[in-house]
Amino acid sequence: MNAHILILGGDGVGPEVSHAAKQVLEHIAHTFSHTFSFSEALIGGCAIDATGSALPQASIDAASAADAILLGAVGGPKWDNTKAATRPEDGLLAIRKALGLYANLRPVKAYPELAYASPLRPELLTNVDFLVVRELTGGLYFGQPKERRTRADGGITAVDTLEYHDYEVQRILQLAFQLAEGRRKNVSSVDKANVLETSRLWREHASAMAKDYPAVTLQHVLVDTAAMRLVMSPAQFDVLVTENTFGDILTDEAAVLVGSMGLLPSASLGTQTNAHGFPRGLYEPIHGSAPDIAGKGIANPIGTILSAAMLLRHSLGLNNEASAIENAVQAALQAGARTADLTKENALSTKEMTEKILALVRA
Ligand code: NAD
Repeated sequence: MNAHILILGGDGVGPEVSHAAKQVLEHIAHTFSHTFSFSEALIGGCAIDATGSALPQASIDAASAADAILLGAVGGPKWDNTKAATRPEDGLLAIRKALGLYANLRPVKAYPELAYASPLRPELLTNVDFLVVRELTGGLYFGQPKERRTRADGGITAVDTLEYHDYEVQRILQLAFQLAEGRRKNVSSVDKANVLETSRLWREHASAMAKDYPAVTLQHVLVDTAAMRLVMSPAQFDVLVTENTFGDILTDEAAVLVGSMGLLPSASLGTQTNAHGFPRGLYEPIHGSAPDIAGKGIANPIGTILSAAMLLRHSLGLNNEASAIENAVQAALQAGARTADLTKENALSTKEMTEKILALVRA
C-alpha cells in the first residue's frame, strides 16, 4: 500500500515522541512491503511563533491532503498567557474542526508487569482492556447560548447550554457498536438519563441501535455509576460510549489506571475519508507536551507508538501491522524495558525504548 502521513510534532516532547513513532512506521513499511511517505507541518506554540496562528492554513492543507495525521502534543509555559489572543490549544480545536472529527477513541489496556505503577490494587487490573468512545463535537462545550447575564438585582448568572442533535448521537453510537463487533461485543452506553433530556435522547437511540447489532450486548450505565465502576471493577468494560463532557472526565479517570500518561494512545475519527476509503483520522498520545522533561530525550514514546498502530488499523486498514506494533510494545514491557516515568533505576531513553520496540516488531 502507498500512504501519505502528515506529522504534526507540535511543542515540548511532541517532536521527540512523534519522531519515535515515525521510525516505527518506517520500519513497518519496510517489513510489510508498503510505501509510506511523510510530510511535516506546524501546530501549537511553534506555529504561533512562526506564523501567528496555532494552525496555519498550510497545515490545514497538508492535513486535508494526507491519508492520516500523527500529532505529538501542543502547549507549554512560553505560551501560557491567559490573555493571549491565540493559544496553542486553539490549534487542536481548529484541526478537529477542519477534519470534521467527532469521535475520540481511547483504548485503555493494563499491562500486568506495570501493575506497581497503578493507583489500583494489582488484582483489579487483571484483564483490563477497554475502549472509551467519546463524542467530540456536541454537548455542553459548544451549545449556545454560552454567556453571562446581569440580573435585575445586579448579580451575575452564567449559562452553558447542553444540546445534542439526533444525528450526532446516532453516528457516535453506530461507531461504538461497530467497534464492539470487532472486540468482546459489549457496549456500555454512559448517560445521566435520570435527569438530563439529552441523555434520554441518547438512551433511546442506543436501545434502538442495539436491535441492528444482535451480536452486541448493550448496557446503560449512569455516569456516576460508571465513574465508580471504573475504579472498582474496570475489567467489566469493553466499549464505553458517551457524550462530550462525561467522556472528558471519564477518559482522564481511565488514563490513570494503567500507571503512566506516557503509555496511552488515542484516535480521533470524523466525517472525511482518505484515498483508501478509511477515515482520515488524527492520532496522538493522550499526554501533553510535558515541558518538565522536554529536550531531555527521556519521554516515554509508547503512547505515540501505539497511536501509530491505531493509525494503521483505522485509517489504512492494516490490522496485522497494527498488531505487530502492539505485540512489540507488550514484549518490550514484558522484557523489562522502562522509561523514566515507569522506573527510577536503569531507565531507558526515548531512543533506547524505540530501538527495543523496533527490534521486536515481527511480520
Ligand atoms: P502533561 O501530559 O504534558 O504532563 C503531565 C506529567 O506527565 C508531567 O510530569 C510529564 O512529565 C508527564 N508526562 C507526560 N507525557 C509523558 C511521556 N510521554 N513520558 C514521560 N512522562 C510524561 O500535562 P501538563 O503538564 O498538564 O501540560 C503541559 C502542557 O501540555 C500544557 O501546556 C497543556 O496545555 C498541554 N497539553 C496538551 C495536550 C495535547 O497536546 N493534546 C494535552 C494535555 C495538555
